Amino acid sequence: MPSGSTLLPFGRLDGRRAFVSGGAHGIGAAIVRSFAGAGAKVVIGDLDITTASELAGQVGAAAVKLDVSDTGMVQQAMAQQGPFDIIVNNAGLDQHAFFTDTTPEDWVKLLAVNLVSALACTHAALPAMQAAGFGRIINITSEAARLGSRGGAVYSAAKGGVIAFTKSIARENARFGITANSIAPGPIRTPMLEAAVAKGGDKILHAMTDATLLRRLGEPEEVAAAARFLASDQAAYITGETIGVSGGMGVGG
Ligand code: NAD
Repeated sequence: MPSGSTLLPFGRLDGRRAFVSGGAHGIGAAIVRSFAGAGAKVVIGDLDITTASELAGQVGAAAVKLDVSDTGMVQQAMAQQGPFDIIVNNAGLDQHAFFTDTTPEDWVKLLAVNLVSALACTHAALPAMQAAGFGRIINITSEAARLGSRGGAVYSAAKGGVIAFTKSIARENARFGITANSIAPGPIRTPMLEAAVAKGGDKILHAMTDATLLRRLGEPEEVAAAARFLASDQAAYITGETIGVSGGMGVGG
């Protein structure tokens, strides 16, 4: 951390303006709670505005209805709600199907929600961060990006793109005091995972837990803890990284 600068206490985000996409449910909601609890002024951008508004009311945040795959909508919403010191590109969409059973429409949709959304939100947020000389960009990728995924080829490709994008943004923006990092969750107990288990049954649940060294699912709060650290002043010397929060799933990957 630069000498002579005044740092917030460990893990505190007091006064920081944070944007969390997909913050109504699952990992995003845990990040919203964690950031708001740490003193950040949080804006949730989510398709599900009803739940996003309920959560915002509980934690003193704001909520905006947003489809992150609509780049025009992202640009407009972030200009209205910003500027931001921290953005968390978290909204995502999974689809379990073998690649040969997917269509070009599926590819476009998965790439739009999982990858283009991060480009759009980052593009909208960066100019103000550059002008301020401070920024934290946190992209939620997946261990599927590093390991591949049987039944998730396009999702994995999009999440791999998120990692490469993050590294490039880290390189371009270090001189502005902006860091960019990815978090790669393993199987985390969220509505997304519950939907996969509802479709694939206990077999898929066991396969997911067996793929971790710790032999269990993760909790959204465990991902949020990593996001909060990366957003904090104490993470100033960490950039371009991909941090697994996956019970060791990524070891060797
Ligand atoms: P979730 O499906 O439980 O929640 C996703 C949230 O994003 C919801 O609030 C949903 O309304 C919102 N959302 C979806 N599409 C959107 C869109 N187009 N525009 C705006 N909001 C939208 O998902 P989750 O499990 O909490 O996943 C969060 C992130 O973590 C995703 O990027 C996902 O790919 C990643 N991830 C999750 C797991 C896991 O096991 N749960 C594992 C690896 C990576």
